[in-house]
Amino acid sequence: MAALSRFLRATATAARGMSTVAPESSVIYPAGLAAGPNMGSSVTLVETRDLGERNVQWVFLGCPGVGKGTYASRLSQLLGVPHIATGDLVREELSSSGPLAQQLAAIVNQGKLVSDEIVIDLLSKRLENGAAKGESGFILDGFPRTIRQAEILEGVTDLDLVLNLKLREDVLIEKCLGRRICSQCGGNFNVASISVKGENGMPGIYMAPLLPPSHCTSKLITRSDDTEEVVKERLRIYNEMSKPVEEFYTSRGKLQEFDLPGGISESWPKLLEALNIEDSDHKQSAAA
Ligand SMILES: [Zn+2]
Repeated sequence: MAALSRFLRATATAARGMSTVAPESSVIYPAGLAAGPNMGSSVTLVETRDLGERNVQWVFLGCPGVGKGTYASRLSQLLGVPHIATGDLVREELSSSGPLAQQLAAIVNQGKLVSDEIVIDLLSKRLENGAAKGESGFILDGFPRTIRQAEILEGVTDLDLVLNLKLREDVLIEKCLGRRICSQCGGNFNVASISVKGENGMPGIYMAPLLPPSHCTSKLITRSDDTEEVVKERLRIYNEMSKPVEEFYTSRGKLQEFDLPGGISESWPKLLEALNIEDSDHKQSAAA
């Protein structure tokens, strides 16, 4: 695979200088996960360990709005592996006539979270179908969310790397509040023009807005859940849930943190550098 040959030394870099704290029993199980960690020992995930020459097996962590999906998608194209977002799997199943569609609709309509079992079932099917088509490796996005999910994943596959994408919280909030959707074409834009001066040894951050074409300008709307209060609450919940997962992977020596230095054009080359990936062929197009 040509993409594979461009891929040089993507190493499972050990987390740098982070204190390792034993995972505690502080995992939050929201309504849909109320059964907690001992429910259903029968979950299975497709065995991916025995593939011959395999590609990267990575997990991307990062709070909502950080751009995790964008970077995961770009890297998966570059490395020739599928970008598997569990949120997409749920949405696809919902809009299908698949066996879980009805059950999922009921859960989502009640505003509950989809259980580990269902997510793992969907993920397992996705990996099986992919393997049948000759896929090797993956970048997972949105999974695992809990230590229990991380343990299940660990039982069946060897992750090379868990990349934790981070962005300064004040910048992240500003970015989330700048999100706009075109009510006519559904396009996603961002009107926030972020420019934070560096201070106290911290680098500055610049993020250009993603402005709509002129025919969309008058039709922009803000999602009702992109208010400051909701964004902050979403972050708080994410941080609470993700901390034990991050600690889990830190204790495995698999967590690599990456502080996003700005928008995509600033971050993409630095991210490739941090991952030891050479992208000579795609340098132009990827940064576009
Ligand atoms: Zn539009």
